Amino acid sequence: MSVRVRIAPSPTGDPHVGTAYIGLFNLIFARHFKGQFILRIEDTDQSRSRPDYEENIYRALRWCGLEWDEGPDIGGPYGPYRQSERTKIYQEHAKILLERGTAYKCFATPEELAEMRETAAKQGLHVGYDRRYRDLSPDEVRKREAAGQPFVIRLKTPTTGECVFEDAIKGRITCPWADVDDQILLKSDGFPTYHLAHIVDDHLMKITHVMRGDEWMTSTPKHICVYDAFGWKPPVFMHMPLLLGKDGKKLSKRKNPTSIFYFRDSGFLPEALMNFLTLMGYSMPDNREKYSIADIIAQFDPKRIGTSGAFFDTQKLEWLNQKYIIESIPQNQLWDRIEQWSYQREFMQRLMPLVHMRLKTFGDFMQLCDFFFINDLQLTPELLLPKNTSAETASALLQCLIWSLDEREDWTGPSLEQASHEVADCFGLQHKKVLMPLLFATIMGKDHGPSLYESVTILGKDRTRVRLLQAIETLGSISNKKADHLKKSWQKRDCKDYSASR
Ligand code: GLU
Repeated sequence: MSVRVRIAPSPTGDPHVGTAYIGLFNLIFARHFKGQFILRIEDTDQSRSRPDYEENIYRALRWCGLEWDEGPDIGGPYGPYRQSERTKIYQEHAKILLERGTAYKCFATPEELAEMRETAAKQGLHVGYDRRYRDLSPDEVRKREAAGQPFVIRLKTPTTGECVFEDAIKGRITCPWADVDDQILLKSDGFPTYHLAHIVDDHLMKITHVMRGDEWMTSTPKHICVYDAFGWKPPVFMHMPLLLGKDGKKLSKRKNPTSIFYFRDSGFLPEALMNFLTLMGYSMPDNREKYSIADIIAQFDPKRIGTSGAFFDTQKLEWLNQKYIIESIPQNQLWDRIEQWSYQREFMQRLMPLVHMRLKTFGDFMQLCDFFFINDLQLTPELLLPKNTSAETASALLQCLIWSLDEREDWTGPSLEQASHEVADCFGLQHKKVLMPLLFATIMGKDHGPSLYESVTILGKDRTRVRLLQAIETLGSISNKKADHLKKSWQKRDCKDYSASR
């Protein structure tokens, strides 16, 4: 049987380095074993999935050099590969489970569920749902349905014994069934949950190995139970070590650069980023750190995949990237590569409206626009802090600005203008005197420059976000506890407590 692996990203945000990392290992695995690498788009979350995010997944993965053999954009024998086009398949499969008696209709109302959760929390139980609809008589079910009561379809999970499975990376995993909820498979609107949809797909798409992030390991017993409920053989599970941020927690965009486009736009080479990502989960037998993807494909041994999380250390990435620039790009091709990166005519033309009225001589151009081409702005608290503003206030302002822009799902200049006014009002501070100088310093590394809003549109969302994060870090970073507290104030749109002057 030929090896078939897949990645299944959800188009709900910017293309994450974690997707490239898991995609890369799946690709290496598929190529080494002469199998197929499939891309499936998991867009069952109707409210958060967007076609432009999906487009960005393709673009980002292609920039990384990860080519798939089957996928929504190129088709294949087991399509469609976009879950929103497979709703009927999931509904039919949920029906099969009802008929087999391995799933049931649950009529619990939101109030009942809240009450069950409360009781479970009081009793210190892992399981929040008390299974009260699991054994309704067929008659009772029919009556409720006839009365138009909404229902979900839940999996009948065993209540005693243990789930035991072999993870090909982590080894034998055991988990008491009593800790596993009766998972919802089909929601009351007829749409599947991830837990049902991905299993039906993996089965119908003949996936042999599910290689995915460690964060899915705790859900795997549920998944095994779904396979059992259908009477299907589960694939081999392989849970990859997580990428960790500086704080030792799962790499998240709250504190780290995570968008693949950030690395592209900051001038990293895709081959260096890919090499770096393999180091996060793998070690070559000779401990070499620089090698091509073709090398690792040729030598690949799944036993050499690591078991514990790896720090996503950007300094190490820079070190490796420099090695690639020195060893892989001959001097006579270097300018072509830099030009391709960000000195193309088209990009330069976009800068002209910003500088036209500001140039005394052409020699001023670079000085005005340096921040479009620089990664490290050499920020200092002195540079960042507006008059009479404390570091705590300034970092809280920037954090709220990130939240405001995320809520708008729009990081262009006009949106930044609205967001920064909103944030200033919420802190009871003057936009012009506090927000503007803070933002100029954050985005440009200086106290004046071309139009801030237009610059941000050109700089793009990913680099803008990272600049805000870099400024927060320069000001002393915000602990998770403080961030939670701040978020509550932000949600009430009242952050005046944070605007004490220093
Ligand atoms: N849609 C899931 C994700 O976004 C896929 C998880 C899996 O590979 O099973 O991570």
